[in-house]
Amino acid sequence: MGIVERLSGIKLGLPESVKLVAVSKTKSVEAIMEAYNGGQRIFGENRVQEIVDKQPKLPGDIEWHHIGHLQTNKVKYIAPFIDMIHAVDSEKLLIEIDRQAKKNDRQIPCLLQVHIAEEETKFGLSEQELEKIIFNLDQLNLKNTKISGLMGMATYTIDDSQVKKEFRNLKSIFDRIKKKNLCTLVDFKELSMGMSGDYTIAIEEGSTMVRIGSLIFGSRH
Ligand SMILES: *Cc1c(COP(=O)(O)O)cnc(C)c1O
Repeated sequence: MGIVERLSGIKLGLPESVKLVAVSKTKSVEAIMEAYNGGQRIFGENRVQEIVDKQPKLPGDIEWHHIGHLQTNKVKYIAPFIDMIHAVDSEKLLIEIDRQAKKNDRQIPCLLQVHIAEEETKFGLSEQELEKIIFNLDQLNLKNTKISGLMGMATYTIDDSQVKKEFRNLKSIFDRIKKKNLCTLVDFKELSMGMSGDYTIAIEEGSTMVRIGSLIFGSRH
């Protein structure tokens, strides 16, 4: 099976309301073009250097999403073109994204990353830190970023019940934040959760955006 067949297979199983981010990290421009010709338009990358290299070589109607941990000092390189930043995990990063977006006269949609996994290695905000950032938004008055929702990564485990529990927790945080801050968070509607190994569970638990790499492009190793 090729990229287009795998892509189609995945899309068939997705509810219409769920967006597919094809995670093309480490994959070639040719592989991305194959997916593009198969109709895919949203691509996700986690390394700034890689996304900056690939973006000019590919069609202009691609929506580029930055999906992994992002260093504050690298925001400037992607600010001119990035369409969404999935893993904003500090107020400092959010402020820098806003500053760079302003320089480029754009508005950049951002998702706040919440730490939901048991593993300590993964990035993300605690619920308390998340609430603090959201509470501060009015005061920060950021004009060039938009908080479009939340993102999270579940524990890497074969225990589906654990993964389910973590996604369910993220969805309940999402619902709670949304309800409490309706006026401030008018654009708050995306819940980015689910990867190759766990996206079906994520969808059951309310994901609106899945980030799938190896299932489309093949294993990275
Ligand atoms: C690599 C990556 C993915 C995709 O992983 P697959 O298991 O290949 O689907 C999704 N989200 C993030 C943040 C990633 O870094």
